[in-house]
Amino acid sequence: MRASMLITAIESTIVSLPFSMGGPHPLFAGQPWDRLEILLVKVETEDGLVGWGEAFGHAAIASTKAALDSVVAPLIVGRDADDINALTRQVLHGVHLLGRNGPFVYAFSGVEIALWDLLGKRTGQPLWRLLGGGRPGRLDAYASLLSYGGDVELVARNTAAARAQGFRHIKLHELTREAVLAAKAAAPDVAVMMDVNCAWTPPVARDMAAALAGDGLFWLEEPVWPPEDATGLASLRRHGIPLSAGENTAGLFGFRALIEAGAIDIAQPSVTKIGGIGEMARVIALAQAHGIEVTPHSPYFGPGFMATLHIVAALIERPLVEVLWLDMEANPFDPWVRAQDGKLAVPSGPGLGCDPDPAILARYTKAPPIRIEARR
Ligand SMILES: [Mg+2]
Repeated sequence: MRASMLITAIESTIVSLPFSMGGPHPLFAGQPWDRLEILLVKVETEDGLVGWGEAFGHAAIASTKAALDSVVAPLIVGRDADDINALTRQVLHGVHLLGRNGPFVYAFSGVEIALWDLLGKRTGQPLWRLLGGGRPGRLDAYASLLSYGGDVELVARNTAAARAQGFRHIKLHELTREAVLAAKAAAPDVAVMMDVNCAWTPPVARDMAAALAGDGLFWLEEPVWPPEDATGLASLRRHGIPLSAGENTAGLFGFRALIEAGAIDIAQPSVTKIGGIGEMARVIALAQAHGIEVTPHSPYFGPGFMATLHIVAALIERPLVEVLWLDMEANPFDPWVRAQDGKLAVPSGPGLGCDPDPAILARYTKAPPIRIEARR
């Protein structure tokens, strides 16, 4: 291998995929949320190789893309693609005054994932092997149902439908005990989790945790507002429900604060948000050193999802992978982004092991990519 491998260009594109979800599409910021959007990051190196990454988008997609195109990509082009740890330190230091969590770190996460894809391609190794893992079998997935706005009939029907597809762990994005009971009645032999996305103040959360304590929840996710209130979250643990959080936690030190407060049983770092694969590995090691399980946040459908598969296969003993339960029309990363019988396969090709299908990519790309090139 040569001494350095310069990054020649970074491109960003938004891929927009229609989907159905067994009920009305929820509103997000007043608009119906009816397209899955992937903020796809393409990184090119001087040897002609191409790596793919994904930065967290969802409602922040335009902001993350602007952060990438205007600030993060210009900091990275012309640098050595193989020096991932140093680049992480330098870029995250360079943007730290713009936020330790949010669009700039999300944008970097997308590039970092692409750098690992490139490293795998250049060395002929799948990411799981670069991370020290052995050849993975199929991984257990859990069905992460979208919100049905408290409609317990839709919750029951879609829980039963996910169960019939082979899922044995099903997560609700609902706010009521009635929804939990409806899901458990619809599928008595599955583990049910509840994710309330930081809906409650600590006193309300404590009341809800007391009410839910006998319902056998597999975990209760992000019960407390704001997500950085580690003490408030810790105050719920006496009710005995396993608590999970981390998708809104900033980096390794954010997790250290949650863990030191005794706030979580299950850590949920998100590879497209937290700074990429290297930071995920550091968070996983920290959690494991404290006997805390890791079940990553992964409600996405591109290279970020692929990276999650490799990471958990290599670093977690009994992984459980979040799959948003919905039906996509098509996806450039098919078939790897879909569970079969509640399980997921992990590719064995170099890097992430899955480049986007060019025809599907062209069909669902929203606008021409923005391309940032190294100055020559
Ligand atoms: Mg969540």
